[in-house]
Amino acid sequence: MINDVLINFPEDVRDDIAAIVEKGGVLTADSCHRLSRRMKMSSESLMIELLPVAASYSIAPISCYHVGAVVRGAENSDGYANLYVGANFEFEGQALGHTLHAEQAAISNAWLHGETSVTALAISAPPCGHCRQFLYEVAGNKGLDVLLPKGSYSGLDNKHSDPELSFDTIDLLQLLPAAFGPLDLGCEKLLMDIAEPSTKLSLDYCDLKNEQQDKLVDLALAAANSSYAPYSDNFAGCALQLTNGEIVLGRYAENAAYNPSLPPFVAALSQAVLHNNISEPLDIKRAVLVESATNCTQKNVSELLLKTYSKNLALEYFQAK
Ligand SMILES: [Zn+2]
Repeated sequence: MINDVLINFPEDVRDDIAAIVEKGGVLTADSCHRLSRRMKMSSESLMIELLPVAASYSIAPISCYHVGAVVRGAENSDGYANLYVGANFEFEGQALGHTLHAEQAAISNAWLHGETSVTALAISAPPCGHCRQFLYEVAGNKGLDVLLPKGSYSGLDNKHSDPELSFDTIDLLQLLPAAFGPLDLGCEKLLMDIAEPSTKLSLDYCDLKNEQQDKLVDLALAAANSSYAPYSDNFAGCALQLTNGEIVLGRYAENAAYNPSLPPFVAALSQAVLHNNISEPLDIKRAVLVESATNCTQKNVSELLLKTYSKNLALEYFQAK
C-alpha cells in the first residue's frame, strides 16, 4: 500500500504523493512542479521515483509480481504535466489472459482523465510484447519515450544512455520494429486521438424500467460513446458503483492485434483500485455495461469477471443503438 512506500520520500513531499490516491491515481501538474523543485529533479526522474508508488496499487494474487507504471500527459505552459499511475491487476480463479498490465492501466487512467496524448511512460523494466503492441495503438509512428531505471535494459549504447541521469530512454519504435498497427487495418486515428465522443449511441429509455433510468446508466453510455473500437464498432462503456458510494468508469480500448484490447469492465475495476489503493477484493454495489450491438460483445467477459468479486451481483446490461 502507498503508506509503505511514502517513508522513502522526503517528509515535505509526502502529502503531495499521498494525494495521488484521492485524485484517482493522478499527480497533478502543480504537484509535479512542486515535487520536482523540492526533490531537485526533472519530471522524468520524478516519474522513475514514483514507480514504487504506482506498484503499491498492484493486485497480483497469482504472480505476486507487482508492477507499476507512470505516464505523463500533455505539458502546460510551465512545461509540467499531470502524471498518471497504473498497476497490474490479476483475477484469481480466472484465466491468465484476463490480466491487466501496468502500462495499460496507466494509459487507460490518463485517457479517462481527458488526456488526448501521452508524452512519456516510465516502467521498472522494458515492457512485455503485449504492452508494446498496446502502446503502439497510442503512439503509432510518432513513437513514445519509454523511461527505464538505469541498468534495467542492457541493449542501449552510450548515445541513448546518459551516465548523468538515473534513467535510460528508449523509443517504443526501437522496442517494436516493423510494427503492425492501426494503419495496416486502414485506421488513421490512434487510441487517444479522440477528444470528442467517437460515436453517438443512444438508449431507448422507453424499454427500461424507471429505476434503471439513472445516472449510472447514463455514465456507462457516455463511456461507450467515448470508447475506441475502430475494428469491430463494438463501442462499450462500463460504470461501477462501489459500496463506499464512489462511481468509476471504464472505456473499451480496442487494439489492431485484437488480443491486447482492454475491456471496459477491466478498465473500470482498475479505476476502482486507483481511487482507493486497496489490496482486498472490491466491493461492488452495481455494475452497468452499455455497448453497441455488433458481432462482438463485452457482456460475457464482464459477467465472468464480475463473479470473481461479487458472486451474487448481476451485471446490468444494455444494448445501445
Ligand atoms: Zn505488459
